[in-house]
Amino acid sequence: MAGEFALIDKYFARPTPSAVLGPGDDCALLQPTPGKQLAITTDMLVAGTHFLPDTDPKNLGWKALAVNLSDLAAMGAKPRWVTLAGALPAADELWIAEFAEGFFACAAEYGVDLIGGDTTKGPLNLCVTAIGEVEPGQALRRDGAKIGDQIWVSGRPGLASLGLAQLQGKIELPGAWQRLCIAALEKPRPRIALGMALNGIASAAIDISDGLLADLGHITERSGCAAALQLVKLPHLPKGESYNADLRRMALDCQLAGGDDYELCFTAPYDQHIAIGRIAADLELPLWCIGEIIANPAEGPAGQVTVFDPDGQPIEFDHKGFDHFG
Ligand code: ADP
Ligand code: MG
Repeated sequence: MAGEFALIDKYFARPTPSAVLGPGDDCALLQPTPGKQLAITTDMLVAGTHFLPDTDPKNLGWKALAVNLSDLAAMGAKPRWVTLAGALPAADELWIAEFAEGFFACAAEYGVDLIGGDTTKGPLNLCVTAIGEVEPGQALRRDGAKIGDQIWVSGRPGLASLGLAQLQGKIELPGAWQRLCIAALEKPRPRIALGMALNGIASAAIDISDGLLADLGHITERSGCAAALQLVKLPHLPKGESYNADLRRMALDCQLAGGDDYELCFTAPYDQHIAIGRIAADLELPLWCIGEIIANPAEGPAGQVTVFDPDGQPIEFDHKGFDHFG
């Protein structure tokens, strides 16, 4: 069985044209593009917490990288480099080869080089750090939303958690939904091109990892405002032959509070709506205007995200998103 260094060499040390020095030394060496700011993010994927232990290793490799690139997307940054630290229970070469295949497929798709990492024995745990570049002052922060800004969301949040519910046997999705929802869960597409296109257009942005309401809540909290969403403006989920009231309710829950979608939620001044429509067309990615940033109420909690039904009545939800310690 291969040792640590042989495993790294065989599966993780690949050419790194974007780095001065890649894997193999004590550190990697990078030359940032002159004049750019670096955007740096780390995310950990723990077996049993973030993914089912028997998840297909190829999908896991893709996802471990994709969720980190999604944070760069939410910042409007261009991805450049990544590191990978992994604790593996055993040197199972078949597993590692498939994991690496998924990881490097995602790296190739989004143009990043794996420049280093750490490999150790332990309960399955994967930690990726991603480094991107952004024009100074252009990063899409959470604290920039202004009262009157429109609230937008990309794609169809909710698909990933519907896919998870299907895999866990909690629901039986109509045939047409199944592949779509499971693909959204297993192979999320970080919205890099969208994030970069929103430079100079969006006032704030976040990627939806913990659920639309919860993540939009981070924008309102940081920006010192509140949000009003219109139920009828939420993206339609695909209907199927067995679409019924139960499924409709479940779909709405997943849409508003389901995690793992990695779509972007962003705010922008009203007069950017034509530019945003153009971006949607260019990227062939649906962008939905789902509500508006409003002032915090004179009394009551700040940063609230409220969903209104067609009669203008607020809708109550029992859970708002995923919180590891909540
Ligand atoms: P050190 O003991 O100096 O931290 P390591 O033995 O941990 O070095 O790693 C040796 C080299 O292999 C380093 O350059 C490190 O970045 C790289 N490396 C280790 N694990 C990985 C991995 N999973 N993917 C990419 N590079 C890795
Ligand atoms: Mg090390």
